[in-house]
Formats: sequence, C-alpha cells, structure tokens
Amino acid sequence: MLLQDTQLIETLAHFNRERIPERVVHANAVGAWGEFEVTHDISHLTCASFLNGIGTKSKTLARISQTGIERGGPSNLRDVRGWSLKVYTEEGNQDFVFNSTPVFFIRDPIKFPSLNRSHKRHPATNCADHTMFWDFHSHNPETLHGLMHVLSDRGTPKSVRHVNAYSQHTYKLVAASGDVTYVKFHFKTDQGVQTVSAAEAARLCGADPDGHTRDLYEAIEAGDFPSWTLYIQAMTPAQAETYRWNIFDLTKVWPHADFPLLPVGKLTLNRNPANYFATIEQAAFSPSTNVPGIAASADPVLQARMFAYPDAARYRLGVNYQQLPANRPVSRVYAPYQRDGMGTIGDNYGGDPNYVRSALREVRFLPKAEGVVVGGGKHEEWVRGKVEDYSSEVTDEDYVQCTAFWRDVLGRQEGQQEVFVGNVAAHLRAADERVWEGVFDMFSKVDVELGRALREMVTKGE
Ligand code: NDP
Repeated sequence: MLLQDTQLIETLAHFNRERIPERVVHANAVGAWGEFEVTHDISHLTCASFLNGIGTKSKTLARISQTGIERGGPSNLRDVRGWSLKVYTEEGNQDFVFNSTPVFFIRDPIKFPSLNRSHKRHPATNCADHTMFWDFHSHNPETLHGLMHVLSDRGTPKSVRHVNAYSQHTYKLVAASGDVTYVKFHFKTDQGVQTVSAAEAARLCGADPDGHTRDLYEAIEAGDFPSWTLYIQAMTPAQAETYRWNIFDLTKVWPHADFPLLPVGKLTLNRNPANYFATIEQAAFSPSTNVPGIAASADPVLQARMFAYPDAARYRLGVNYQQLPANRPVSRVYAPYQRDGMGTIGDNYGGDPNYVRSALREVRFLPKAEGVVVGGGKHEEWVRGKVEDYSSEVTDEDYVQCTAFWRDVLGRQEGQQEVFVGNVAAHLRAADERVWEGVFDMFSKVDVELGRALREMVTKGE
C-alpha cells in the first residue's frame, strides 16, 4: 500500500472531516419537508405574499429539536423543543424559530449562555448537574414561568407530532398601507398535545432512544402526515401602550381572554428528506430571515437572536451557508456585494460589479420593509421606554402568570398539580441540599400550598 493509493487516502481523509460543529443548543433534531396553506385572510394585517390569498401554498422545511442534549441523545429527555420552519416564498425565505413553550426563561439576552450552561454539563464532572440547574433558576426567578411549563408533562411530549410551537416573542405584521400590528404566533398541533409521564419518558430514553425521530419518519412514510394550525394573537400599537404586560417581555403570554387566537393557515409535513445531513443538519434558521410584511419587534432577546443565529450558522456551515440547498431561496437572489468566501457555490456572479453604484450594470434596490411603526414618534418613544425599563429585577407581577398556570391550567386538569410537584421534587432531590431552600421560596411565591407540598415531598422523600 502506497501513498499513491489515492482512493484510500481520499476516503480516510474525508472520513476524518465528515463532522461539522454541532449546534451549541438544539443539536438533536428531526425534520421534514412540507407545505403551508393560507386558510384565513389576514391581508389587512400583512403584505407578506405567502400569507395573502386563501389557498396560497408554499413549500416549507421544518426542524424540531431538543434544546440541551447533544446530537444523538435520547429523544424522550425532558426539555423545551425547538420548532423551526422555513417557508420558501416568492419574496425570499421566511424563517420561524419557535419553541414548544409559550414563554421563554429569560428576558435579558446576556443571560442566554448562563441559562444553557446550567442545563448542560458541569465543567468538572462533565455530567448534567441538578445543583447548578436549580442554583441558576432560583437566583434568576424570571425563568420560573418557562420552567413550570417544562416541568409539567408538556416537557415530555409523546412525539414531536404532538407539540405546539409558539413564537414567544412579539413580532410585527406590516400591511401594504404601512400599518403595523403586534402579533404572537401559535402553531397548534392538529394531532392534539399528547405527553408521557416522567417514568415512561425515562424508560423510553433507554428502550427507544431514537423514538421521536423514527416516529416522524415512519408517520410520513405511511402517509399519515402531521399538521399544525397557525394562529395569531393581534394587538394594535395603541393597545400595546396601555397593556398590563410589557409586550417585549417574552416571559409573559398574552392571555387568550385579552387577545383571542385568530386562525391563519395550516402546515402539513408530507415528505421525508432523502438525506438527513444535507437537509436537516445543514439547514440554518434565523429570526432575522423575514419577508416584507413580517418584522421583528424591539424585544431585546429577539434582537440578540437576530445576531446570534446567522453568526452560529457562519461558524457551523461557513459564510456561504445561505447557498446550501436547504437554505437557498426559491426566489431569485441577486447579492453581488456578498461573494467569494469558503464554499462558494455557483457562478459567484461572474464578472458583475462587486461594488455599489456602477454605470456597467444598473441595480435597483427595493425599499427596506422593516415595519417602521406608523403613527411615528410617540409610539417609538414608548417602545424605547419599554425597552429601557427592561431589567432582571423580578417583582410580584412576574409570579402572576405562574400562579395562573398553576391554579387555572394545571389545577383544572385532574392530577396534573400532583404530577407537577412530583416532577419538580424528583429533579430537585438530585441537587445539593444547599439550593433547596431557594427553590422552595421561589415556588411558594407562585402558591403557598405548592411551596409546602414541594418541601414536604423533597425533604421527606415521598
Ligand atoms: P387560558 O385558560 O385561556 O389558556 C390556557 C392555555 O394553557 C390553554 O389554552 C393551553 O394552550 C395551555 N395548556 C393547557 N394545558 C396545559 C398544560 N398541561 N401545560 C401547559 N399548557 C397547557 O388562560 P390564559 O391565556 O389566561 O393563560 C393562563 C396560563 O396558561 C398562562 O399563564 C400560561 O402559563 C398558560 N398558557 C397560555 C398561553 C397563551 O398564549 N395565553 C399558551 C399556553 C399556555 P395551548 O392550546 O396553546 O396548549
């Protein structure tokens, strides 16, 4: 055997390089192609073409993930599910990068790495660590509302076909007139939310670690296509100014009684990718990828994600990740000022000018559709004030929706409060006793009886 055996050398060299950096969060995922169809007219709210015209259909790609565990981990592990969707429209891609919980843990984006580290591996032991998990959460109690959702049975879904997805953030819809409406998006599973108990999830982690991946694949192969109904909650800028909750605080929902769900369309997943790596691993989603008619709000976590997601994709897939098949828009893209770089695909704009303003080739720019709030100065001042007010300080107001979840949602479902206390207790008991008191205090602020029941179960080991 000689170095001139180039097939061997190439084969071994390629094998050494077939891994790419995995996502630091949301590494473990399933995904499929699908179709989004408009079922209800919201053209008065948005000029986005894929949302206009009942019956309008667009090709989509969905990727549903677990947040904490590394790629290949057991799919039944308790966690928030990431739920991303790429809609390939004639105006470019629209990405939705949502989660399975209606609220998120934090509202100050600088805490994002801390939050995720506390859910991952201890720097010394390299094991998941319940002590640092509870140490983080009890000292950052704005995380409690999101935590309660994950620690309810919704944290252990039966399959990815049985989870809802929520934008969590407030977004803006922009109409052709320029009028802006604040919205939250909800994709509700048409299969119904279904969960498994903590004990069953633990069993499945060992017995069937790829269960959710296979479930989605096999359902689609069998023609049993899962679907979700898209709803929005809609709020005018004037309503936002007087609303009880800061609409840029994603630890809060908009109660349904205040802002009912309005149906928009239906997503159906109907085709498995022919190749997982090419389609799902190389897919890159970002909340900054919006078509005209959909825009980000001033929510600081959303603003930070608009930087972090494309930055992560550049690190993981290279600067030309948008040219990869899964990410390439179906609409024509002419961006000759972005060219060259590692992994350039295609003709790289040939000899077209690579600088702005040229007599050799005329380029017209579309107006930036960024959803400037009409009505102008006064509302912009309000937005600025709301964002400046933003702080990590946690007040009694932060427990109100946690209490509503405990009393009105779990409390009305037979046995769900007991299940919740059992789930928290089992997790907390595995943490160092020094963090217990802070956790009991935190849950007591939601409901005194909840705090008492938790203390009893943890300390007595019942
Ligand atoms: P509602 O009674 O109108 O809504 C409660 C919602 O909770 C339901 O519509 C359902 O939403 C969701 N839900 C039901 N069972 C569970 C469960 N076991 N675990 C998690 N979620 C469940 O009340 P409000 O709108 O006033 O909200 C009250 C609380 O409900 C909130 O504080 C929040 O914690 C929770 N919630 C609210 C949502 C919202 O956007 N308003 C969305 C989801 C939860 P779905 O059909 O979306 O699952």
